[in-house]
Amino acid sequence: MIIVQKYGGTSVADLDRIRNVASRVKATRDAGNKVVVVVSARAGVTNRLIADAKSLAEHPDSRELDMLASIGEQETIALTAIALHSMGVPAVSRTGAQVGIKTDSEFTKARIVDITGGDLNKQLDEGKVVIVAGFQGVTDDGQITTLGRGGSDLSAIALAKAVNADVCQIYTDVDGVYTADPRVVKDASKLNEISYDEMLELASLGSKVMQARSVEFAKKHNVVFEVRSSMNNNPGTIVKEEVASMEDVVVRGVAADKNQTKVVLLGLNDQPGTAAKIFNALGKANVNVDMIVQNVGRDGIANMTFTVPTDDAFKAEKAIDSIKDDIAAKNFRTMTDRVAKVSVVGIGMRSHSGVAADLFTAFANAGINIQLISTSEIKISVAVEVEKADEAVRVAHAAFGLGQA
Ligand code: ASP
Ligand code: MG
Repeated sequence: MIIVQKYGGTSVADLDRIRNVASRVKATRDAGNKVVVVVSARAGVTNRLIADAKSLAEHPDSRELDMLASIGEQETIALTAIALHSMGVPAVSRTGAQVGIKTDSEFTKARIVDITGGDLNKQLDEGKVVIVAGFQGVTDDGQITTLGRGGSDLSAIALAKAVNADVCQIYTDVDGVYTADPRVVKDASKLNEISYDEMLELASLGSKVMQARSVEFAKKHNVVFEVRSSMNNNPGTIVKEEVASMEDVVVRGVAADKNQTKVVLLGLNDQPGTAAKIFNALGKANVNVDMIVQNVGRDGIANMTFTVPTDDAFKAEKAIDSIKDDIAAKNFRTMTDRVAKVSVVGIGMRSHSGVAADLFTAFANAGINIQLISTSEIKISVAVEVEKADEAVRVAHAAFGLGQA
């Protein structure tokens, strides 16, 4: 079999952990497999590099940022190869460029356009383990790019597709994907399998198991993968295309995103074009808007509320301020407030009704006030006070019977 194994930053954090990875890789190869290993930078390294750049300049040049951020992974591939050599395993390290991970030139969040592989197959045929630097890509004219934070996941999934791997394993510091964050919900249970769409919702909702882009890529190219722990041998969570039986479970998991800010615009002009102006301005400022609620206008005046990632709140306020004169009616005001977005996710919601009623009833009984609501086919999200976020997750988790049997 051809197996791609990806080890994240905590799995290669220090030399002991790197030795641990090397012995796992050795065991996989000894079992007769061809192994491609993708590694991240050691935990904290990428953050430190980027922080250094930002202490020298407020807005460091993005090409130089990628030149810098990409070195964390280069350290780990070499150390992992050396650890394998010391165990008598033939292994060779490769940068993203050396295995031809071709990207566009959107530095710091480049998109993969092609993977040529370089001599990857040749090395595998010769019995060597190939250790590839995650996160890195290269443009047509040889510039080093990176694939966005957490991008080693994408490197692994894309390589699994490129080499037509039989198995793609994403090793991390948790046993898999849980029905809720086990640090918040004591009886959260590990899911044996989950669909791409559910994983995507949970990944983008603050249960930061994997980079969302990598899950999108896996879905698009139908790459089945397993999220599992590098610290034990427990089976993990299989992420794959949905099958009919997955719909039997209405709610698969509950997630909270505590980094949301609610922006309330009061005293808006209630006429065609106001919303367009607001969201065009936010779009231009690169602000990702999430839940949007507009009330019924009265006397030519309307109010609107939406949420943005807290990191973008300042940008959002500035963008609104710049178009204030175009959208304001009387007594125009902007108010912002931190909120948490708590979401229940499950593809079974497509075919089951009453989920919203059950969720809202559970919150009502627990005295949790709902500030905003938004829904999609497979998700119901509710904005609540940040201080109530953990409790809301526990209440929702219990309401849908997600605890361990
Ligand atoms: N080292 C990169 C980061 O910290 C990529 C990764 O770990 O997946 O974002
Ligand atoms: Mg990661």
